Amino acid sequence: MGGRAIPLFKAEKTQVTKNVGIWDVELAEDDCKACGFCSNICPVDVFASREVPNRLGWFSVYVKHEQNCFGCMLCFQICPDFCIDVTAKTRPAAKPGKEKIS
Ligand code: SF4
Ligand code: SF4
Repeated sequence: MGGRAIPLFKAEKTQVTKNVGIWDVELAEDDCKACGFCSNICPVDVFASREVPNRLGWFSVYVKHEQNCFGCMLCFQICPDFCIDVTAKTRPAAKPGKEKIS
């Protein structure tokens, strides 16, 4: 086996440098019930809480540090209200001179 297990609801955050900066994390704040599952399960520091309530009256979570996301999808899987979507950013265009010539 190998690799490091990520405990559920890990309070303290780690720092990950691999596969970061390539994910779009979208969170539907109007539908968030502020349960905190996403921010607790995320192994790194991505989410934070709003200081003003959303339309439901909850202090919703929002995406504060998207650049820290490494695409583990735990937040996507745990949100009971399907508020979160994580997708790969569009790849940047190839630099001139680096394109393959077929
Ligand atoms: S996919 Fe979700 S849980 Fe995983 S690192 Fe990104 S924001 Fe955190
Ligand atoms: S898990 Fe979903 S409902 Fe709960 S705080 Fe996160 S986004 Fe909001």
